[in-house]
Amino acid sequence: MIIDCHGHYTTAPKALEEWRKRQIAGIHDPSARPSASDLRISDDELRESIESNQLRLMRERGLDLTVFSPRASFMAHHIGNFSVSSQWAAICNELCYRVTQLYPDHFAGAAMLPQSPGVDPVTCIPEIEKCVKEFGFVGINLNPDPTGGFWRSPPLTDRHWYPIYEKMVEFDIPAMIHVSTSCNACFHTTGAHYINADTTAVMQLIEGDLFRDFPTLRFVIPHGGGAAPYHWGRYRGLAQALQKPELRDHLLRNVFFDTCVYHQPGIDLLTSVIPVENILFASEMIGAVRGVDPETGYPFDDTKRYIEAARNLSPEDRYKIYEGNARRVYPRLDAALKARGR
Ligand SMILES: [Zn+2]
Repeated sequence: MIIDCHGHYTTAPKALEEWRKRQIAGIHDPSARPSASDLRISDDELRESIESNQLRLMRERGLDLTVFSPRASFMAHHIGNFSVSSQWAAICNELCYRVTQLYPDHFAGAAMLPQSPGVDPVTCIPEIEKCVKEFGFVGINLNPDPTGGFWRSPPLTDRHWYPIYEKMVEFDIPAMIHVSTSCNACFHTTGAHYINADTTAVMQLIEGDLFRDFPTLRFVIPHGGGAAPYHWGRYRGLAQALQKPELRDHLLRNVFFDTCVYHQPGIDLLTSVIPVENILFASEMIGAVRGVDPETGYPFDDTKRYIEAARNLSPEDRYKIYEGNARRVYPRLDAALKARGR
């Protein structure tokens, strides 16, 4: 099996975006505020949006299942207050849930959280409970910077975040550390803010001792871990200077990197620096980079090609990256697959 642990519903029917625009307009004009039931999207519209996009590419590329979450750049936790984020997260998660119901063999859900700047993360717990218990979701996306590029939350190792970690441990679900759109002009959303956040998360985890408090907590750092694998020596050296254990003990029992690195040398580096046990296959399609690489003639985000071509990987390594590690990091996905005889 090939499990893609990083896909977003970037192709949702236009009605979703229209509803969101009305919701944003309603922040200052309550009479314009839409209700959740004002959004009507039929199953046929969902099918059309998935079959002509994600599912078509999964079939073309030989991918079996995608861990599917709401569009990351649209989370925009900086907009409005908790009530705005809460209604928006509920709607987006429900759409992903419906996709998982329409295509249970091909999609498993991961939840967006109703985060809001300055609001206690404990407010996210009811949405996590609903998504796991009622929707059967297998993970969450946790935004370390709900301000969208201004970084006003404490580091991920701070007790501020512990209510979410306690729930993750209780449900045995991982979090992908994933920011949303940047509203800081210095940081391009997917080119800088995303990669910065991945790198920032790794360094925060090195500085702290979070996994001493939560030995079973698991994080997926997307986009190949940002700059971390490329600068692994720097991070090992910083850990040493901070009198932390070697990163294999300090981080790698709990931290995993995906393969959303869109060229062969990047994947060769990732797979030679980071142990294969810590690498999860992912493509994040249809996402930030949708073009064709003129050097190869293939789409940049067709990441399976790079794993196939990586010369340092054995068939056993590929199994771990494609399937084995994902079953370990997402035990609820593993259980759901086994229940379906896979
Ligand atoms: Zn993403």
